[in-house]
Amino acid sequence: MNPMITSPITATRPLILLCRETFEQALLEEVRAKLNAQQRDTTTRLTVEAGQGLVKISGTTRPVTDTLPSAFIFERQRLNQAVWLENLPLKRLAREIAVRLLPDISRSHLPWSLHTFAANPDSDQPLTRRAANLRDIFLEFCAQRFTVVVKRYRPPERAATQPPLLVLQLCLAPQGLWGSVMPLSQLTDPCPGGIHRMHFDPQAPSRSYLKIEEVFERMGQMPKSRQRVVDLGAAPGGWSYAFLKRGCQVLAVDHGPMKLKSHGDAGGRLVHLRENGISFRPPADQPPVDWLVSDMLIPPGKTLGMIRKWLEEPLTRRFVFNVKLPQQHPYPVLKPIEDYLRRIPGLRFQMRQLYHDRREITVFGVREE
Ligand code: SAM
Repeated sequence: MNPMITSPITATRPLILLCRETFEQALLEEVRAKLNAQQRDTTTRLTVEAGQGLVKISGTTRPVTDTLPSAFIFERQRLNQAVWLENLPLKRLAREIAVRLLPDISRSHLPWSLHTFAANPDSDQPLTRRAANLRDIFLEFCAQRFTVVVKRYRPPERAATQPPLLVLQLCLAPQGLWGSVMPLSQLTDPCPGGIHRMHFDPQAPSRSYLKIEEVFERMGQMPKSRQRVVDLGAAPGGWSYAFLKRGCQVLAVDHGPMKLKSHGDAGGRLVHLRENGISFRPPADQPPVDWLVSDMLIPPGKTLGMIRKWLEEPLTRRFVFNVKLPQQHPYPVLKPIEDYLRRIPGLRFQMRQLYHDRREITVFGVREE
């Protein structure tokens, strides 16, 4: 049963999709393409407004959330049936949130958590600080007046391991905030705001290290000691280092020099081949590798050709690769890759713009044995 309380009125509230700033149009294009494909026979109409790292979708005949994919490529997080609250001093805003959104929580008996974040965490530091202050003031306000509800509150770190759970999301924009109460399972990402800010390891030779660490977190899979890894476009070595420090055996393929200062102390081993990563294939007599990862700056068509070879033979169990995006209209470039991966039986994959991605998206997945 859906623990969320819905009513005819809330069904007309908009759906807010969050994305990286400047990628609103890319997300919009993807939403339009996917909803048009699904809703050819229905009367649902959509109005979409984009800007400030978010896309607003209003359905007119039924909640648009009924037909959505669990995540769009360019989507960081979503707020179903969202409520808009104009800016106010924080104490008054906390009271307003309690009036408009807390009833959805108090009517349920489930534990709940609170995610407060800026719509644009990458460029709006003051709003990120305001979000943190609002969280503290709101929780204090609730502790004074709603003791029964507060007993069911779980901080986000503990909350992720305790579904079913309701999440009150407060997404701050410059003029106000979007708020929404949803089951954790319906969030695009269990992480508040979909913001996976990873810690940099000073031994890593490049910032790309952050991307592969984010992938491990999103996959819920860490590399294990002695796993075999092929890293295409490996130089200077951020991704290779992330595997080496966990004791993996890494074959790094790149014409350029590796600049690793350390392999970590888990017994990881590295072999560097100065070869073309697109045409590279491992020796025929070896079993599939545990990980194929590719961070080459090559056109999307060549990326698709490369991954087909690795998946069809098959030459790998898990894969991570990124796709460089064109300046305009990225979704049509991504659709052939998404369509291709969907057709492969037993493949679990995600195609997402990572928090640490810039003009690219990342695809990662696992082949079921
Ligand atoms: N993942 C790396 C890291 O963590 O440090 C960064 C990779 S960098 C963005 C892209 C690399 O791809 C460059 O070192 C470049 O030499 C390599 N590259 C591009 N095309 C390639 C190809 N066809 N074969 C091998 N390497 C290639």
